[in-house]
Amino acid sequence: YNINISRSEEIPLRRTIKDTRPETCKDTSFNISSFPSASVIIPLYNEGLSLVLRTVHSVLDRTPDVLLKEIILVDDASSHEDLGEPLEQYVDELGEKVKLIRNFERQGLIRSRLHGMQLSRAPVIVFLDAHIEVNVQWLEPILAQLQEKPNSIIQPFVDGVDPDSLEYSAPNILYRGGLTWDLRYVWIRLAEHIQEAAFRSGQPYWTPTLIGCALAMDKAYFKSIGSFDADQLIWGGENVELSLRTWMCGGSLVTLPCSRVGHVFRPTPYKRETPFHSTWQKNLIRTAEVWLGPYKKYFYSATSIFENRHVNLTETEWKSLEKRKSLRDKLQCKSFDWFLREVSPDLHPPPRNSMQYGEITNE
Ligand code: UDP
Ligand code: MN
Repeated sequence: YNINISRSEEIPLRRTIKDTRPETCKDTSFNISSFPSASVIIPLYNEGLSLVLRTVHSVLDRTPDVLLKEIILVDDASSHEDLGEPLEQYVDELGEKVKLIRNFERQGLIRSRLHGMQLSRAPVIVFLDAHIEVNVQWLEPILAQLQEKPNSIIQPFVDGVDPDSLEYSAPNILYRGGLTWDLRYVWIRLAEHIQEAAFRSGQPYWTPTLIGCALAMDKAYFKSIGSFDADQLIWGGENVELSLRTWMCGGSLVTLPCSRVGHVFRPTPYKRETPFHSTWQKNLIRTAEVWLGPYKKYFYSATSIFENRHVNLTETEWKSLEKRKSLRDKLQCKSFDWFLREVSPDLHPPPRNSMQYGEITNE
């Protein structure tokens, strides 16, 4: 994913982009003088330099200056050489708004985001992956929505960037995020009439789960519901954990058809690393243990994504879950049963009269 950037060449960095918003969004104007500003936080681990720069430049170019407090790049101890000195030099030239901080040791995407958030100064935060291109007027609808409903967490509408050609494109359908019993995010196509209404009005619509590569929230609200679980490591599951927690503890998740960002959908690059599967799995166990209540047995019996079915938390890890459970109790969050009924009716529990549920495999 890297393009060799030679500093002597004139590269037109400010580029035009296909405006993928529904027509109705293009006529909207915003009273931005009343809006809070945002800090954009971008964790990165061994990303292509050119993609990181595409992310940063698109934010600089397509965000009104008064609304953008800063861009905080959090390098998660990458080993790629061009993310060392070359990135540092480049960032220096971009002026004060762009900052680069580094973790001494790899912490994973969740802790890197939290690290960036600790240093952020704006009341609104936006987390973006490091291979994103934001589209025209992407931030304004987010800030308008947060002003109206500070207890919502926002997912801009995620377009695609092709991993081979790097071309930006939009799906011509609208979707929400769903959930499987092994706690993975799945795309759910909206019913025709809801799609039509959303295309016509450009209005936000709710989603049971967040996809994770781009999300925005009011920082004070996010902290009040426990931000992220800092004991989730490396990669995976944090989007589902945050989704369940937000809904069950009184907030909501919305997607904005008028705020578009393109994300490079690539195969997960860490998949081949040894601890990858078990850390992801542990992140999901943490989520199931805190949020699924008696339904957690369905999570444990639906483990087809994992190589090792017998991963367990260590004693310290079990202990660290207590904090999350008492947070849930303190916030008086609703049950998973409520979530299934009111938010995610597409996720069906096995029939009540079934005697066994799970997978059968041949050894
Ligand atoms: N990331 C990180 N540390 C890690 C793994 C990921 O900082 O240990 C960053 C990564 O560079 C990216 C973001 O976290 O900007 C999300 O990761 P990725 O894009 O691989 O997730 P996906 O989009 O595949 O869900
Ligand atoms: Mn990504």
